[in-house]
Amino acid sequence: MTSFIPFNKPHFVGPETRYIEEAVRSGKISGDGMFTRRVHEFYEQTQGFAKALLTTSCTDALELAALLLNIGPGDEVIVPAFTFVSTANAFVLRGAKIVFADSTGLNPNLDVAAVAALLTPRTRAVVPVHYAGIACDLDALLPLAAAHGLAVVEDAAHATDGYHRHRRLGSLGTLGAFSFHETKNVSAGEGGMLVVNDLDYAVRAEILREKGTNRAAFFRGEVDKYNWVDVGSSFLPSDITAAFLWAQLENLAAIQQRRVQLWAQYRAALGPLAAQGVGLPALPDYATNNGHLFYLVCRDLAERTVLLASLRAANILAVFHYQALHRSPYFAARHDGRPLPWADRYSDCLLRLPLFVDLTDAEQQRVISTVLTFYATR
Ligand SMILES: *Cc1c(COP(=O)(O)O)cnc(C)c1O
Repeated sequence: MTSFIPFNKPHFVGPETRYIEEAVRSGKISGDGMFTRRVHEFYEQTQGFAKALLTTSCTDALELAALLLNIGPGDEVIVPAFTFVSTANAFVLRGAKIVFADSTGLNPNLDVAAVAALLTPRTRAVVPVHYAGIACDLDALLPLAAAHGLAVVEDAAHATDGYHRHRRLGSLGTLGAFSFHETKNVSAGEGGMLVVNDLDYAVRAEILREKGTNRAAFFRGEVDKYNWVDVGSSFLPSDITAAFLWAQLENLAAIQQRRVQLWAQYRAALGPLAAQGVGLPALPDYATNNGHLFYLVCRDLAERTVLLASLRAANILAVFHYQALHRSPYFAARHDGRPLPWADRYSDCLLRLPLFVDLTDAEQQRVISTVLTFYATR
């Protein structure tokens, strides 16, 4: 019997437990400790984000973004239907109306050309998701948002080390939200980050993240008392989380090198399936590949079901992805009824193959052979 190939396996760089021990020995493991500061400095100084704030998850970062933008009842927010629930839920929690947009036929990203028709005087924000770490069409979206005074919140959960025309994903919108969930390129188990690109929001972002207090300014000696000054919640992670994440970030280049290599090997080996009408990840000229995930778009739902089963029979776990949110049990009755055919198509036909740092070339070859054998007879 061949060994089991999981869909994902968390990658441990090595120093994670040592850094956690260091955090513990330092006597301060609450939020904004020494490892959190190191992570913030890495994103601000090495990666060039204007302001970085670690959160307990990307979900939390999106909720912080919605609070920060003062989204409320009556406001409308444009979100792709083919995304993770948190992209929309963060704004639903504030009472906003979600207006779902379709994906493009090229890849599952938001169809920016369709956004203009969705705008109303109540539209406040648009939330592009860089699916699979491949940039959404920001050349078209950013000017449209600027012309209508909309905030752009980049859901950059997949987008660590991804670029749009040489600019880091997450750095182009008003705000950006990253995920350090175990399934993402760099992990803290659970974790996330809000990046504030429009510095008008920087001070208030710190306050909302710290329960509505000016605690961060107090610890920097900028105010002499710390007080309740605004609304807020507790969005900051323990320094134990940051210590784990720091070990991963120190090793980011190696993690990315392997992930991108595995992605390229899949792309090269499975590329010929395009001739049979199987969809493969498409990289527009403004986008890069960050090795976050590799997908195929099967010709129909029945084909995907059989391919998943064939992989399973070969002891390989592949998985599908989002069920489009406009059809979800929570939202279906709230949706305005517009058909979103591409979102439906990706829900039914997209399949993700195992891709993780510790996947060996031999294991990947087994995945590739199983897929090619499946399509050889179709
Ligand atoms: C993973 C993910 C999230 C949520 O990230 P968490 O850190 O688990 O909260 C949000 N949006 C997208 C597109 C994701 O893939």
